[in-house]
Amino acid sequence: MKAEIRKALNDQINAELWSAYLYLSMSLDAEAKTLKGLAKWFFVQWLEEQDHARIFQNYMNDRGVKVELQPIASVPSEWAGPLEMLRDTLEHEKEVTAMIHDLVKLAFEHGDPATLSRLQWFVDEQVEEESTAGDLLQLFENAGGDYSVILRLDRELSEREYKRAEPLE
Ligand code: MG
Repeated sequence: MKAEIRKALNDQINAELWSAYLYLSMSLDAEAKTLKGLAKWFFVQWLEEQDHARIFQNYMNDRGVKVELQPIASVPSEWAGPLEMLRDTLEHEKEVTAMIHDLVKLAFEHGDPATLSRLQWFVDEQVEEESTAGDLLQLFENAGGDYSVILRLDRELSEREYKRAEPLE
């Protein structure tokens, strides 16, 4: 594996773990705001982001490349409310999508079809992530601060269940 690809994958693992950390922080803040459903939804995000990191770790291991973990930067610990959390979520997922697309470009430039193939799952996953975050943001925007609607949304979100990412099955 080319050094540039190895470095970019190490950076991506760090970004996935930072995402996990961000969503754990949102989960804890939602819990503190007694939005238990939203807390559950972000808790599932935290588990899924750890899966994303693990998919890259497994891939590097399979290619005989050792992962080099880097420090995880700090995350905010408080948001004004669910709207702000979901706006940050959508914004963040767009940034992750751009990172994945940059990785695709890099793997293509370096003629690395195995990495391109592994990245395809993430390309599709990011379409899902942005779509889900966008829909959820829209629902909370539509609630327009109506507390009874927010509580109903919160109850629906509590039904989200964690499912291991397909490449890890
Ligand atoms: Mg991710």
